[in-house]
Amino acid sequence: MATKHDYYEVLGLSREASEAEIKKSYRRLARSHHPDANPNDPGAEERFKELTEAYEVLSNADSRRAYDTYGHQVPRGGGAGGYPGGGEQFGGFEDIFEAFFGDRSSFGSSFFGSGSRGPSRGGDVEVEVDISLREAAFGTEREVNVQVVKNCSVCDGVGGTESHTCGTCGGAGAVRSVRESILGQMVTTQPCSACGGRGRIIDVSCENCRGSGRISEIETRNLRIPEGIEDGMRLRVSGAGHVGEAGAPSGDLYVTIKVSEDEDLMRDGEDLVHRLTVNVVEAALGTEREIPTLNGASEVRIEPGTQPGATLRLRGEGMPRLRRRGRGDLKVVVDVLVPTRLSEEQRELLEKFDAASGHETYNGTGGSFFDRLRGVFR
Ligand SMILES: [Zn+2]
Ligand SMILES: [Zn+2]
Repeated sequence: MATKHDYYEVLGLSREASEAEIKKSYRRLARSHHPDANPNDPGAEERFKELTEAYEVLSNADSRRAYDTYGHQVPRGGGAGGYPGGGEQFGGFEDIFEAFFGDRSSFGSSFFGSGSRGPSRGGDVEVEVDISLREAAFGTEREVNVQVVKNCSVCDGVGGTESHTCGTCGGAGAVRSVRESILGQMVTTQPCSACGGRGRIIDVSCENCRGSGRISEIETRNLRIPEGIEDGMRLRVSGAGHVGEAGAPSGDLYVTIKVSEDEDLMRDGEDLVHRLTVNVVEAALGTEREIPTLNGASEVRIEPGTQPGATLRLRGEGMPRLRRRGRGDLKVVVDVLVPTRLSEEQRELLEKFDAASGHETYNGTGGSFFDRLRGVFR
């Protein structure tokens, strides 16, 4: 084992540090050195363990006193490694995290896993659902098939069709051992090895799950997708993930929504954008055109002298606002087509038109092209 650092140094504290200072310092350091926060740093786990060990020792008045007296050379109990700071107060890193940060899931489960005591929560499941823009606008329902690990329905998760209460743990699934040490009485709780933590001894193994108590099956769920949902948003169905260990909750189901692009309508937040092309003559003389909206076709009037990039706003014809009242707007952006292939006759007509035109023909076009476009996208 490498040389141990001084616990006070590890936590950046003086030997006079108060309980609150120890807690505060550990909390701050544990956050920044947590392995899940430093996925590319192989040393992070080691540092984190060192921090936690230091905290376990210094946060307990008895073990702190022993450390102050003996340093790292304090006589050990029979435990596998390090300080006997465990027991009920500290079931492991995981419990410390839960006590401090409330939500262990925000740190993922990669770091805490096999080593942690106590039943662990079931894993989360993720699926993706593709919907159209119109379905996003009006809301929709979808059936999703999710592969999940569940309790075997034949044996109720016990693993056997006939079983009896474990005599070693009395059905609790865990055993407590009390040990005398220099630091006083240490109480440790560990999963019962006789029954594997289940609390029951199997007499006749279940054939359906081959004694595991778990089966993986495809579950069909009907999902309600709310109106106004945006591409990439995730819905959470609480408890619809993998089943947890006995006494622990199931994981969650996360549904990522993919909204496919629409040919006619482009989404811009709660607004929609439609590109309307008119030719140069229609733009100059004005016209009426039909445009697609979420609620069917709608007429718009193109005023004489409409410029490229001009935008018509149809109030309330956009997307519904998610969890709010009302809807965004439909912005119709006018694109003006300029002729590219002219016959001899057309060319002559245009030349005649140009000869008859002056500066005033193009007056009052209202701002630059870019100013007009800027109004479209916020
Ligand atoms: Zn079974
Ligand atoms: Zn047992």
